[in-house]
Amino acid sequence: MHLYVRVAPSADSTWNVPVSRVRIRIDRIACDGRGLCAEILPELITLDDWGFPIVSEAVVPEEIVDVAEDAVEVCPKLALWLEAVTTGGKEKG
Ligand code: SF4
Repeated sequence: MHLYVRVAPSADSTWNVPVSRVRIRIDRIACDGRGLCAEILPELITLDDWGFPIVSEAVVPEEIVDVAEDAVEVCPKLALWLEAVTTGGKEKG
């Protein structure tokens, strides 16, 4: 598996950090609610009544991590990112 994530949405984010388990995060301020992400990843992203995404807190299943990466990459507002899931230790993202 070749998983690489953007660790945080800030301007000084570190890209391309290899991790093993991730979840999707969203910047609700940046999101414009067109719902492209939900079309790509309906397993983990649904839309509310106003068309804004509701993002699952679940760990992204390994078999759809590539799809989650696609959802992050196509977001026109850069409002999505994948966050490393810590397991109680000092796991770095
Ligand atoms: S693709 Fe990005 S801007 Fe569009 S609804 Fe999803 S998070 Fe919001």
